[in-house]
Formats: sequence, C-alpha cells, structure tokens
Amino acid sequence: MPTPTTVKLLVDETNEDGKRSSPVEHVWSDPRLPHNRRRASGCAAFCAIACVMFILGATIGAAVYTYLTPGAFRELLNWTTSSGNGDEMLSDDFEELIEQHCPDFPWDELRLPNDIRPDHYNISIHPDIDAGRLSGQVAIDLRVENETSVIVLHAHRLNLSSFYINVNNRKVNAEHSECDVLQQWAFTLDKPVEENDEIVLGIEYDGLMLADMHGLYISTHHSNNGKIWKSVASQFEPNHARKAFPCFDEPNLKATFQVSVVREPEHVTRSNTNLRVTREHSEEGLYIDVFEKSVKMSTYLLAVAVLDNYDYNKRLTKTTAEPIEVRLYASRDVLKGQADFGLDVATKALEYFEDYFNISYPLDKVDLLALDDFAEGAMENWGLITFRDSSLLYNEKTSGELSKEHIALVICHEIAHQWFGNLVTMDWWNDLWLNEGFANYMEYKCVDHIFPKWKIMSRFYAENAGSAMEPDGLSSSRPINAGLESNTTNIMSLFDAISYHKAAAIIHMLQGLAGEWYFQKALIEYLNKYKYDNAKGEELWRIVEKHASLPHGVTVESLAKAFTTQVGYPLIQIGLVNNDEEILVHNQTRFLFDRDHKKNDKDGDKDGDGDGDGDRDGDKDKAKAKAGDKAGDKDESEEDEEDENGKDDDDSDDEKEKKEKKKMQKKGRGSNEDEDDEDLEWPIPVHFRTDDKGEPQLKWLRPGEQKVHWRLDSPSKWVIANSGGIGYFKVLYDKKIYRELNRQLNRDHSEISAIDRTMLITDAFDFTKVGLLDIGTYMDMVQYAEDERDRMAWTMISQQMESIEGLIEETDYIHLFRDFQRSLVVKVYEELGWDDGESDEKEESPSRRGLQQTVLSFACRLNHGDCSKKAIQRFNQWAVSKKPVTPELQGIIFSEGIKHGDSALWEKAYTAFQSATTPKAKQNLMEGMAATKDPKLVNRLLRMTLDSKSIKANTIHWVLSALAKNELSRTAAWRFFRINYDDYEEILGKGSNLLFACIRGLVDKTSTKHDLEELKEFLESKNLENNRSKLEQLFENIEVNIQWRELNEEKLEEYLREWDERRRRLHRRHKQFEGKF
Ligand SMILES: [Zn+2]
Repeated sequence: MPTPTTVKLLVDETNEDGKRSSPVEHVWSDPRLPHNRRRASGCAAFCAIACVMFILGATIGAAVYTYLTPGAFRELLNWTTSSGNGDEMLSDDFEELIEQHCPDFPWDELRLPNDIRPDHYNISIHPDIDAGRLSGQVAIDLRVENETSVIVLHAHRLNLSSFYINVNNRKVNAEHSECDVLQQWAFTLDKPVEENDEIVLGIEYDGLMLADMHGLYISTHHSNNGKIWKSVASQFEPNHARKAFPCFDEPNLKATFQVSVVREPEHVTRSNTNLRVTREHSEEGLYIDVFEKSVKMSTYLLAVAVLDNYDYNKRLTKTTAEPIEVRLYASRDVLKGQADFGLDVATKALEYFEDYFNISYPLDKVDLLALDDFAEGAMENWGLITFRDSSLLYNEKTSGELSKEHIALVICHEIAHQWFGNLVTMDWWNDLWLNEGFANYMEYKCVDHIFPKWKIMSRFYAENAGSAMEPDGLSSSRPINAGLESNTTNIMSLFDAISYHKAAAIIHMLQGLAGEWYFQKALIEYLNKYKYDNAKGEELWRIVEKHASLPHGVTVESLAKAFTTQVGYPLIQIGLVNNDEEILVHNQTRFLFDRDHKKNDKDGDKDGDGDGDGDRDGDKDKAKAKAGDKAGDKDESEEDEEDENGKDDDDSDDEKEKKEKKKMQKKGRGSNEDEDDEDLEWPIPVHFRTDDKGEPQLKWLRPGEQKVHWRLDSPSKWVIANSGGIGYFKVLYDKKIYRELNRQLNRDHSEISAIDRTMLITDAFDFTKVGLLDIGTYMDMVQYAEDERDRMAWTMISQQMESIEGLIEETDYIHLFRDFQRSLVVKVYEELGWDDGESDEKEESPSRRGLQQTVLSFACRLNHGDCSKKAIQRFNQWAVSKKPVTPELQGIIFSEGIKHGDSALWEKAYTAFQSATTPKAKQNLMEGMAATKDPKLVNRLLRMTLDSKSIKANTIHWVLSALAKNELSRTAAWRFFRINYDDYEEILGKGSNLLFACIRGLVDKTSTKHDLEELKEFLESKNLENNRSKLEQLFENIEVNIQWRELNEEKLEEYLREWDERRRRLHRRHKQFEGKF
C-alpha cells in the first residue's frame, strides 16, 4: 500500500483552512452509526493504523526515528494521521445494523456475492474542483459465474442519477436499492441471468469531492508567490475507489479499465496508462482526455489526477526489455532542481526489479506524482505512483543525506509493488502482508543494489524484526495472517507493524534459510503463475517449498505457517553447560511484555519476587543441572537423527494450526481476549556462534522440544544465538554468558557484529521490562556505547536511555542517570562533532549523518556544554544572518536555540514557520518552538493548536508531543488538552486517529498506576470505542512502563550509586596520581 514517510514529514495534509474534514464530511462519517439511513454510510469507513504507537513504543521519542526508519515504516506513521473517518465496525453489531438500516436490501455481507464478476470498466469522470463535486458515467462488462437475479456492487458517498442493464444486447428492467451500511448498491433483475450471458451495467452518478485524501480528493498547493492551486488526486487503497465510481471494490475482482477524464483547458490529467486522445467536451470549453485501456488489475490500484500548474521532467530506462518512460510531476515552482534524484532511483529500480523478477514491466510508462496533500508516504498505483512531496522531491542543497536515503527507500518500495501487489495481488486483505511485507523487504534489496556503499541491509534487523517485536510482544497483538472475517470493516487496522515489519522479517528469515538464489527462483515462479491474478500466502510457501528445502527436515510451509498464523514470537533461553562444551537451549514460549498475562518461561524459571533478578540462580541452576544430567544420555548423533525426521514437526504444526484457527475464530478481530499462549510453539532456526571466531552454525529448536544440547568444538566463554538476526525470536542468556558478553563488548565490541550488538541491546532492554534480566546487567552492557560507532546500535541505546530517563525523571537519583548517559556520549560526540562530513565519500554519508544526528541530539538533550553552545551558535547565525542550517541538524539547532533563547528569538522562529515552504522545515520549527521555557509562549503555542490558520489539523499532534517532551510544558499541555477536548474533537474528528495521536503523544510516558487510572477515567467518557484496539495498546504500553519501574527502579538506584562511587574513587586516584608527578 501506500508507503513511507517519516514522522517528521507529517505535514501539509489538510485542506486550505487546515481542517481535514469539511462540514459535509461529518454527515458521512459520524462514527456512532446514526439513525438516519443516509448517514449510516459512514460506518464502514476505516480505522487507520492501530499499532503505530508501538513502533515508537510507549517510551520512545518519535523524533528519534526521523529518517532512521525505512520507507514503509513511515508509511505506517502516516496512517496514524490519516482520516479519522475510520469507524471500525464490530462484527457483533453488524447483523443488527443491516437489519435496522437495510431490511429490504437483497444482500447482507460486506464481501460481494461471487455470482457476478466485472471484466471491463469504461469510466468517464468529471471532477469539478470549484464545486467540490464529481459526476460520471460507468459502463461495466460483467461475467456471470452462477445464475442470479441480483447484481451487487460497491458505491459510497455517490448518488445514482440513472442506470441501464443490457443482457445479451437487450435492455432489461431492474430495481435499484442501496445499503449505506454495506456501501453497496443492488440491481434486482426481473429474471435471472445465466452463465455466458453478456451483461453491461451502465450507471450515471454524481458525488462529493472533499479534501479528505481518500477516494478522489482535492489537493492544494500554496506556491511561493502566495498563489493557491487546486488539483485532484486519487487514493483508492484499500476501499475508496467506491467513492469515485460504483465498482466491485475488492482486490480479487480484477478487471481492465478505460478511463476518460473531463477537465478545464489549463489542466493536465494523468491516469495509469498513457493518454490516447483529447477531444472537446462541451460548449463551456471543457476537454475530455481518453486514456489507453489498462491491464487487468484491482480497483484499489486505479488512479486519476487532474493537475493545475504542474510540470514534469522525464527519463527513460535503459536496460529494461522495452524503454519505460518515467516522468516526475510536481507543481511548477517546486519541480526545478528537485526531480533528478527521484527519476534516477525510479529508473534504476525498474531496471533492477525487471531483472530480479525476470518479468518485464507490463506498462510503457510510470509517472511519479508529488502531492501536497497526501495521507501516506506514497501509493503504488500501477503506472501512476503518488507521493507526499517530501518523499519524492530531493534538493541537492537543502534536503540532506537522510532525506535522500528515505526517498530512495520509498521509491524502491513502490516500484517493488508494481510486481508484488500490482501484478500479483493478495486475494483478500487478510494477506495484506504479502503485498507489504514483500515490498518492505524488497525496498532494502533495491536500495542496496543501487547504493551499495550505504550498506542499507545493516538497518534491516532493527527496523523490521526489532521494531515489530515491540507491538508483537503485547498481548493485544495479532497474527500476520489476520484471519479477517468477511463482515468486518477493520481493514485499515491491518496496515500496521505486523503486516509491514514482522512480515518483512519473516520473509527475510525464509530467504536466509532457503538461500537467496532458490528463493528468487521461487518468487519468479510465483509471479508468473499468478500474474494478473490473486494469491494467498500458502500458495507462495508451496512454491518456495518446491525450490528450497530447509536443512534438518523442517519444511518451509511449517515454518511459514508457524510464524504467520500464530500471534507473537518465541523466547528461547541459552546456557553453557558441561564445562562450557555444550550449549543448552531450552524453553521456547511466547514472549510477552506483560509478565502477569502468561508465563514467559514454562520451566518456572521466572522468579516471582519482583526484584527483577533475571538470573534466578537457584531455580535455573537446578534446572540446568537436571538438564545437564539428561544431556549425558543423549548424544549428538541421536539429535541428528531427530533432525532428519521432520514429520513430527508437520504433525504438531497441523495440530497447532487447527488450534490457532479456532482461537482466531473465537477472537474474531484478533483483539486481546485471553488466549492460551502456552500452546504456541515454533520451529526455530538458531544460528549460533561462539567466541572462537568461527562462522555461525545452524541448529533447530523444534516444536515440542524444551531442552536441547548442542556440543561445541571447544569450550566457549560466550555464545550468540540468532547471530545475524535472521530468526524472528528473542534470546535470553544465562548470567555467565551475559557477564562474558559484556566483557567482550567493553574490551573489543568489534568481535561481535553490529547487527548482533543491536540485537543484544534490544533484547536485553526488553528483558528488563519483564524482569527476565537484571537492570545492572543491562547497564553494564550499554557502557561500551562510548566506543560504539554503528548507527543502529547507537540509535537503539539512545532510545532506551531516553525512555528510562522518562520513567525515572521524578526520582532523586535522576542526576546520576544523566551523568551516566553523559559518560556514554562524550567520546563519540567529540569524534563526530558538528562538521558537515564533506570529506566523507558522499555515498557513505547517510549512515554517518544518521549517527551524528543521534549522537548530537543525545548530547544536547543531556545539556552537554559544547553541544548546546554549538547549537545555539548556529541558531543565532540562522536567526541573525539567515545562515542555512544543515538539514539533518535543524531539529536539534532550533530546539536548543529556542530552549536557551528569549521571546524575540521565538518570534523569529514563528515568523520563519509561517513562511516555511517545506513540510520538513515547518515541522522542525514547530518542534523548536515547543522547546521554550517561557510559560507564556507555551500557552500561546497551545492556543495556536486550536487555530487552524496557525497550525494545520494534521500537525497538532506534533506540537502536543513536542510539548509533552519538554518537562516544563508537559503538565500544562495535558491540562490544556483535557480542558479543550471538545474543541480538539471538533477539529480532528470524533474518535479520529489524529485525535488519538494527540492523546498518545501527551500521555505515552505515563508510568504510575494513579495516572493510568485517571487517564482511563478521562478517556472512558470520551466515546473512543471505535478506537478500542488502540486504546488497549496504549494502556498496555503504560502498564509495561509501570511494570518496568516496579521491577527496576530500586535496583537502578543502587547500581547508579555504586557507579557514582566507583567513578569518584577513580577520580580521586587520578588526582593523587597527577599530584605525584
Ligand atoms: Zn506498500
């Protein structure tokens, strides 16, 4: 689906007056499923992403993610801000609603009947921009699959003017009826139609065109000279095509399309295919553009644009079977100097994928369209890819290296979709991950191919497995394969970290195990077999199975099923036994952050004393000793024999699948009803390595296995399981291994790969949240950070430190923790500094820039003297002499400058904010203004959030989140929000995702029971039922915060006081030493 955009790029999404929804919109989208039938249309609109909050995590500052995340991740973030018209329908309510609102409608399901399929659409559409209305005619050629006397299709927010139905060229009579709840129209025929009958359904209709970024909508561009230009664009995924024309709006009802668009003379129109002919349309001087017939495709991929004051640059591909024309369209005043990079990446990506998939791109052109108002990062419409401007336009001078990386990922993601998603499409939305997981995975491969020096694959683990495990570790998570029932409107909730990042991680795991070449062969066969058609997940695995056999008798299908149909992921525990000559692997079970929900440890190893002692020496050693005895009876050869025999796996997997299916049926929408997590087991590929510097070896921990011994070639000090981050699971080591790993990290961390280091840190921090690891062990681990220079590892450490600081900020030892953090950053700060890195080879610079941004913002957050000084210097130079600021460091510089500056400087920033032309600059300035220490300015900024002329509705949550990060304004911001809740609700939409993003930004650092109760009480009265799943996730994240404090606070204080004493002792010794010489 739509793709990537970073948190910081979430700007400029609204219509001109800053409100996302016009008054008309409210008529259509009242989430309470109004009693008036007309209004009931809104109830099937969709709920945008729930899980985004997890990606950021309850405790992770969103800003840290800026630019550090890949395309698709940013796509997710955008969904949070996308329209709150999403009123998720509960399936229980559903039947009742149909009965109440559509008693006479001849159909009662959201999925269309399968008696009739569309073959071809002939659509003529006239978007009237000034009137905000559209009118059109559509003639649909239909094929009868089963005898029927009713034709049902989708239509939403449309009015029928007239219709006709021809059967075998003869007009027949029919009765039209509508059901707004289902967003469907039905035509009941006088007599049934049969197989082979040729039917044409013609409809004339009109409807609304809003600035709501769904269906056919109005996008507004403010050019530098203050002029306003209005264009029309489309966003049909997942189910908004029905707002533009009556259609069979399901992904597996593919057809061909012939599109014509009526336009004003000065406008340019674009669609999926090339323009065939232009004719005069009417006496009012209108023209009609007729486009070539499309290939067979799903409705959600159709695209139409009517552009005012746009122009384009173009490029041709060189190595593709036929030259493909790539055009980049943007508003005239922003096109110049900003199109080259996008065109370059798009042409190279087309060449790469055509070669990789060995299937020619079936169209002869791709347009890349930059839009001001766009809810997502980008959308892969076949042949007409739409982008948020900041995800496409790259300016050599002002955009910066991180933008470049971001844009490359987004473009690669969308081009990958032209094959994965467009050519072969998931059968139904529950397999959305087939589209998104693959596009997410392929975007890294594509960027790695085009820019090998960027070493983009080093980000893969942290941004996919790493980021997905956070929401996936909550009890409210869901399986990748959603088990979405027919009668649910909750499709948008699938556009989450699970569909994008977990799916990409699982695909990466399978590819890693099957072998790159075999996997590629399988993908080629899959795409060829299902091209212009639809497929389900299992159909892909079946083909992969044919091409690749996994070692040790585990089948691809069993592995894929376990990880795609079961919720969550496994935790395994690793120890070294028998004189450190054997690895003991035991206890696979689902990892959960909520330690009370279910045991994370089936062996009863978890100590229940709440002291956070993850080592639990007593019990665990006993268990180990016992297991060690057992191990004596079982040698390597026996194990290999078992490995050969994969049958048990299959049987148990089948059993599991049945159980899981039942569970999913019971659960319905995949929410967090209690489930039997202890039944979940996975075949787990464990790539392990030891300190002997050898290559990782692969062994399997299979379902049913609780304790396994693997003999080593020689005694080892430490072991790393899941080396390379290929598997999707967490690994908990015993105390001795952690001690040795920490020694190794602090002595020479390069002995452990950057991915393994990132994984160790991620897992260790997560284990402190559940009391599986002592906080002291974790703190010992991160001390090596002063020598760490890997961007992802540092990003992880920085996020974790900021998160801990947020949790303990009210304690009386917070200063010690801040000292501790300073000790981590001093060395790396001095090394990286503020220079612009010009000496570096350009292509290597995104990762260096990313590290620099992370380290500088870490240092400035801790009031590192030199960091603040340099930032303020640069801010003053910018404010006084307009000296440009390095793009990646803008955020840090504006925040520091305003934090330490007076109200006059704040005013300067405000003036710059008002005239800023790029979304990025606007956001940086807005966040900077929120760093003020002046209560009057805080209040002014808060009041501005209620004034749509000052701050656009879709950026309010940014201001509030930034104010919540500032300890001086946090309480005021939350208080102001609560007092003015009704106004925010009015601006953002009742129960909308934007409203929810504000709430989350304000309270996600909450970490006391008292505050949680208060929050629950406040929100309970706010009619947020339609965002129930998001609320649950928010509450669950806060519970995890509370749990972390209970488990770790005291121990952390002890640790820090000892650490402080140690450093003082060292300091004294140092002084004495100095004195002597
Ligand atoms: Zn996508």
